[in-house]
Amino acid sequence: MQNLEHLRKTQWLSRSEIEEYQWNKLVCLLRYAKKRVPYYKKLLEDIDFKKLDKEEFRKIPFLDKKRIKDNFDDIISEGYEESDLKYNSTSGSTGEKLNFYKDKKRIKKGDHLRPATNLRSWEWAGIDIWDRKIKLWGLHPDIPRSLDLQGKLSDWLKNRKFLSAYALKEETMEKYRKKINSYRPRLIISQPSVMYTFSNYLMNSGLEIHKPEGVTLSAETLYPYQRKAIKDVFDCEIFNRYGSREFGDIAHECEKHNGLHVYSERVFLEVIDEDGDPCEPGELGELVVTDLDNYGFPFIRYKIGDIAIRAEDECDCGRGLPLLASIEGRTFDVVVCPNGNHLTGTFWTILLRERIDGIHDFRLIQKRKDKIKIEIVKDDRFDKKEERKLLKIISQKCGESMDMDLIEVDRIENERSGKKRFVVSDVDIY
Ligand SMILES: [Zn+2]
Repeated sequence: MQNLEHLRKTQWLSRSEIEEYQWNKLVCLLRYAKKRVPYYKKLLEDIDFKKLDKEEFRKIPFLDKKRIKDNFDDIISEGYEESDLKYNSTSGSTGEKLNFYKDKKRIKKGDHLRPATNLRSWEWAGIDIWDRKIKLWGLHPDIPRSLDLQGKLSDWLKNRKFLSAYALKEETMEKYRKKINSYRPRLIISQPSVMYTFSNYLMNSGLEIHKPEGVTLSAETLYPYQRKAIKDVFDCEIFNRYGSREFGDIAHECEKHNGLHVYSERVFLEVIDEDGDPCEPGELGELVVTDLDNYGFPFIRYKIGDIAIRAEDECDCGRGLPLLASIEGRTFDVVVCPNGNHLTGTFWTILLRERIDGIHDFRLIQKRKDKIKIEIVKDDRFDKKEERKLLKIISQKCGESMDMDLIEVDRIENERSGKKRFVVSDVDIY
């Protein structure tokens, strides 16, 4: 609660004050890592702390899943016992699972802002820690949620009920509708694809649903058509949250919805181009995260695998925390075209769901640079004319040498992790 109190204040610091605060934390972490973390002792050998600036910082090589795997034991700090760390892993929706440690020691001592950032996110949605919440989450039954005693205690403390939304069926949605109506949560926490499916069910059935104060969506890219449908049905504020298992909340929308404020008190975020140089605002790039609080297993310049765009403007809410204009999905959600264009999931969802008539759902698969396969769930409105229109746009956007297979299917299954992926590309973005 003290940390939450602290974060309530720091959000109103000016941009330069936030940057100074963040930079001091970053230098502390680097000094520590150079002294106590075997992997970084060598890597940071040549870093001159007396003249450390952003340019010098950018000389530190990137960390990625492979490097973590190859150097796992060396990334653990020498100052930590096993009981000071909490083992965790990401679901590995692409088969690339990541094992890592959370810094339990600093969380216990209150030197770690992660638990409090979560509470501040809720506050931005107008929700108090004690308010009733429902988490409607699509997680494959084989993937254990941390429903150990600690997980249950945390749910109880935060007044949060968990409803499994994996492979949502109509009977289940009806059951959940009744549960939500009787529990009357002030906040619903969910994934865009899950809430979209649920909203469609409610819309089509015309049945009553309790209106919460807010809906927080994360774990997948939130597309405009999903936001609109969910807002129409639940008639409340929709908040996009960007976070990950490794870091917790990274960025979150405020009540003005001008993009996502980066939680700069917790993370140092970079958006980089294919040469590893910083992107300009408005330019698409890869996200690189440094966790400023995890000293037990430091993540310094970690390529998290997502792409984003920095915002041009500041938010008119007055908070000094910088803005991301959008999170555009995973690096492997990008179609790399023969003509050099990079087309993200946002492009494809707008094209296939809004510009072309009659497509209800789709999945695009790219195995080679000059060939894509699009599976579609369609109705009669998708006729020869619409198909020709689609082919024409794809040829214009991707280049004439792009070959396309269009396949009609009955339904499209979610990934094993329970997440929805519209685009699955095996072609490297850079
Ligand atoms: Zn704002």
